[in-house]
Amino acid sequence: MNISNLNIKGRRALVRVDFNVPLNNELRVTDDTRIRRAIPTIKSLLKAGGSVVLMSHLGRPKDGYSKKLSLKNIIPSLESLLGMPVLFASDCIGDDALDLTQTLKPGQVALLENLRFHNEETEGDEFFAGQLAENGDLYINDAFGTAHRAHASTAIIARFFPEDKAFGELMEAEITALSRVMTEPSRPLLAIIGGAKVSSKLAILENLVEKVDRLIIGGGMAYTFVLAMGGKVGASLVEEDMVDRARSILEKANSCETQIHLPIDTISADNFSAEAKTEICSTDSIRDGWMGLDIGPESCIEFSEVIKLSKTILWNGPMGVFEFEAFAQGTYVVANALKEATENGAYTLVGGGDSVAAINSANLADEVSYVSTGGGAMLEYLEGKVLPGIEAIK
Ligand code: AMP
Repeated sequence: MNISNLNIKGRRALVRVDFNVPLNNELRVTDDTRIRRAIPTIKSLLKAGGSVVLMSHLGRPKDGYSKKLSLKNIIPSLESLLGMPVLFASDCIGDDALDLTQTLKPGQVALLENLRFHNEETEGDEFFAGQLAENGDLYINDAFGTAHRAHASTAIIARFFPEDKAFGELMEAEITALSRVMTEPSRPLLAIIGGAKVSSKLAILENLVEKVDRLIIGGGMAYTFVLAMGGKVGASLVEEDMVDRARSILEKANSCETQIHLPIDTISADNFSAEAKTEICSTDSIRDGWMGLDIGPESCIEFSEVIKLSKTILWNGPMGVFEFEAFAQGTYVVANALKEATENGAYTLVGGGDSVAAINSANLADEVSYVSTGGGAMLEYLEGKVLPGIEAIK
């Protein structure tokens, strides 16, 4: 299912990439990670004698074309990362696209305009997918970030290429990394789940609790569990209607002998700000009106020990409000422990927007085994859901 199995020479590879990158007010790309990660696939296709037609979405346009969300804005970054000129079609379907893609020569690269300027993209419209398909002889999906969507360009389009479809190199690397954790991992297997999206991450914990040997629950996630165990969490982030689900995860962990590690202490703050007054307290006795914004020093020690004793580690979600320096310590301690575990032979996978931002700001992205590009897609994979973008190729 990878591109090495395709006959590429002299053919046009239509590649779904994820160029949904942030732009500043001058419409320049401020973080080119996603573009950079797509370069190896593009270069491999060119090297194999093909031409490349790139398609992507950018942002969430509401009413068709807008200059701010035009993929034309990313061309300077793409050209400089590729080291060659990139042709541009001002629409992703119709004559604007076909005039360019039907005359494309081997070795050339073209980029189509934002797919989501057509509502049919997110509607998964089959006719629109067919129009897109006319732009290529082969279909390659390299957009892991949108693999959880059954959109026209990520899933439906594959029907038009029953034989000539494959995963790109990035997509393949993402799937390999995730399956290394989820199927036959070296044990002990540890998942560290933090962050603030309690309800969506409870679904992941429900799926993971039976599969992992150890589970660290930190960040804003932890307080719903502490509350479920009868603790006092003050004004910390909790989703009260999730308390029963949290309790049943704890019970399940108990029955399948999964070790659960919740933070025993907390850096508690008198308000949600960088300058808040703080104190260290036990996580289950936070003062009324105060809130836990980071894990405390004892939790840092315990979590580091657990990390260093594990052989496969998945990390999603920060341990605290790491955007404020006063509450970043726990997240950085975890990032450093992951680095040490990796040095000692563990397989470490970091994924999800904020944990990636955290590992980047700790300058440790190169010190772990793999950093995933897919936020929502990775979370849905971990929930055990089938990802349409992956299924369509299989
Ligand atoms: P998520 O998108 O679920 O990974 O959540 C990431 C966000 O969780 C970050 O912006 C953090 O600031 C936030 N976060 C982490 N710990 C806490 C906490 N204890 N209280 C409130 N928000 C938190």
